[in-house]
Amino acid sequence: MSNTNIAIIGAGLAGRLLAFKLSKLNYNLHLYEANPLTPAATAHLSAAAFTAAGMIAPISEAIEADIDTYHLGKTSLALWPSIIEQLNLNAATQVEFKHSGSLIICHPQDHAELSHFRHKVEQLSRQCDAQYQILNAQQLNALEPGLNGNFTSGLFLEDEAHIDNRQLLRALLAHCIANQVQVIDNTQVSIEGNTVISSKAKKSFDWVFDCRGIGAKPQLPQLRGVRGEVLRVESKEITLHRPVRLMHPRYQLYLVPKPNHQFVIGATQIESEDRSPMSVQSMLELCTAMYSINPAFSQARIIEQNTNLRPAFIDNKPQVIVRGQQVAINGFFRHGFLIAPAIIDSVIHWLQGTTCPHHQRIFSFLE
Ligand SMILES: Cc1cc2nc3c(=O)[nH]c(=O)nc-3n(C[C@H](O)[C@H](O)[C@H](O)COP(=O)(O)OP(=O)(O)OC[C@H]3O[C@@H](n4cnc5c(N)ncnc54)[C@H](O)[C@@H]3O)c2cc1C
Repeated sequence: MSNTNIAIIGAGLAGRLLAFKLSKLNYNLHLYEANPLTPAATAHLSAAAFTAAGMIAPISEAIEADIDTYHLGKTSLALWPSIIEQLNLNAATQVEFKHSGSLIICHPQDHAELSHFRHKVEQLSRQCDAQYQILNAQQLNALEPGLNGNFTSGLFLEDEAHIDNRQLLRALLAHCIANQVQVIDNTQVSIEGNTVISSKAKKSFDWVFDCRGIGAKPQLPQLRGVRGEVLRVESKEITLHRPVRLMHPRYQLYLVPKPNHQFVIGATQIESEDRSPMSVQSMLELCTAMYSINPAFSQARIIEQNTNLRPAFIDNKPQVIVRGQQVAINGFFRHGFLIAPAIIDSVIHWLQGTTCPHHQRIFSFLE
């Protein structure tokens, strides 16, 4: 075991992925989490990563974000398979990861929205290697019969993926524990310099990585939470092979297939840090969108409604902020699964004294 003592605060996406990666490099690791991490799924509820849909969509997301998001997403897309391969070596921690693309569709009356989206994808593809295909009704039906022939045209973004976020979180934690990471859960902590302070103890480390998502706001007042609401439904009648995004003038919603006949439909994006349950309006919009994609969803069972906050800086871009021995990794906004592997790799390169292409754009060094 190395002599370098590292604390990682927050066992959401960034914290678990960092702990998993560092555990292969023989650091002495402590992973702190405010909530209990019992096997019961609900124990992870306060991490945005638990609520997320798990899309890894560099093209779709770059349309509203920028080319940096695209490049971070493409880098991550290339990194995910080896992470999944390592996790899947253990039969008990299997993670579903599918690189089967995304479909963008609209109802005939909203065709202008799809044209607008397509125009932006065309612009993006002139700046980078983003690929897309325009599909007619027949091609759409052949690719995704679960759409039930309800749509006459669409866009296929082949180079996008989706992951089962909850399986991933559980698998990362199991591997961390197996690799000697000391997990201290049910313990809300604060950070002062390189010292981690809980109600019971105070401990100093060589490095403290702050991966608290929106929980880091007391230390990073420029951070904001962006409310997102999702529904999880179960339907044995419908099969989808990839995320489907429905273009609409008022909201853009997606439906993401999950294991065990489940689907996540989301997500609202509201400039508010209100974590209260889903509003009636959001419930109506999500259900209407789902039903309009395939009326068989009318018989789906609603098994969860979730609300959470995406941690974001003013420009919605991620940052790694180094202040002495404290390193904050935050601002993943709606792109955690899309960009985390690239960001965490950059952090590990930096820790080990090597550089990587993303350093300059995401790192800042404070006195
Ligand atoms: C509705 C919704 C849908 C989304 N869909 C997608 C998607 O499809 N694709 C995608 O790429 N991204 C998506 N995201 C975004 C993604 O979930 C976030 O970007 C990502 O989870 C941020 O990771 P994080 O580790 O920084 O924060 P989190 O995942 O929120 O984890 C932070 C952790 O820190 C812990 N913590 C906080 N304070 C303390 C403290 N004081 N002491 C100890 N522990 C603490 C929390 O309990 C939590 O476990 C979605 C987000 C939402 C809300």
